[in-house]
Amino acid sequence: MVHIAWNPIYAHPLPEGHRFPMIKYELIPEQLLHEGVIIPSQLISPLPCDDKVILLTHDKIYLDKLDHQTLSEREQKRIGFPQSPALTLREKVITQGTIDCCVSALKTGVALNVAGGTHHAFADHGEGFCLLNDFAVAANWLLSEKLAQKILIIDLDVHQGNGTAKIFENEPAVFTFSMHGEHNYPFHKEKSDLDIPLKDGTDDNTYLSLLENNLQQLITVVKPDFAFFLSGVDILETDKFGKLKVTMEGCRQRDRLVYSTLHLSKIPCVTAMGGGYSADVRYIVEAHCNTFKEAMRTYS
Ligand SMILES: [Zn+2]
Repeated sequence: MVHIAWNPIYAHPLPEGHRFPMIKYELIPEQLLHEGVIIPSQLISPLPCDDKVILLTHDKIYLDKLDHQTLSEREQKRIGFPQSPALTLREKVITQGTIDCCVSALKTGVALNVAGGTHHAFADHGEGFCLLNDFAVAANWLLSEKLAQKILIIDLDVHQGNGTAKIFENEPAVFTFSMHGEHNYPFHKEKSDLDIPLKDGTDDNTYLSLLENNLQQLITVVKPDFAFFLSGVDILETDKFGKLKVTMEGCRQRDRLVYSTLHLSKIPCVTAMGGGYSADVRYIVEAHCNTFKEAMRTYS
């Protein structure tokens, strides 16, 4: 059975002024259940990640600041949320959601977290609405438990996975691949193992052929035994910040391409949602739900 990590805390509590688009974390599971794409027993509810596991990736000084709300004004501004115990707890639960998905994906091939993909978090600081880097924490946990030897991170959010790239810049067991808008946040890009910067206005055909060629080659060359997929839907043409011209169908084909490629090579895959900022929340939810549909279609 394909497991989906979700906890009500994903959508609640929300700092003032951030209700939208975070409401998606409530709407996605509702919609999936409503459409019969998933059944309730597929939902697994994560607990907060243990500090010992977080410290495999993040610095103790930074984690202490999150635990005791001692981030400076400047550090909070960089993150974009005001600090609170609830926000730290939320981030720890989301991180554990990604780890729980790893355990599940090792058995069934795929698992999805209804949040996460917090790829702008660095070892010693957060930024861009990301506090802890869930993929990095989960990847380091997999390596420490000897559950994976070579991990591929496929980051297809429209923003570069700068935190992930930096965390793993000297880690040969993790290959970071990021396809992102060239002229988008973060304006200072870190160096992933493979970066594919996309021009403004990139359309379905260009996007999908670039992805297909690079992904296939990475599977052959990197030979990963585990993969993470950051399925941000801010690549959509309707996105307020994305700058690309990928259609809803193109976004769905992206997901299909990732899953079919990994499935064919028998590489377990954990997916996290990442960003999505279309003005109409229905587009965001539809695109994220398509990711689940494609996962279910491929793996069941
Ligand atoms: Zn993004």
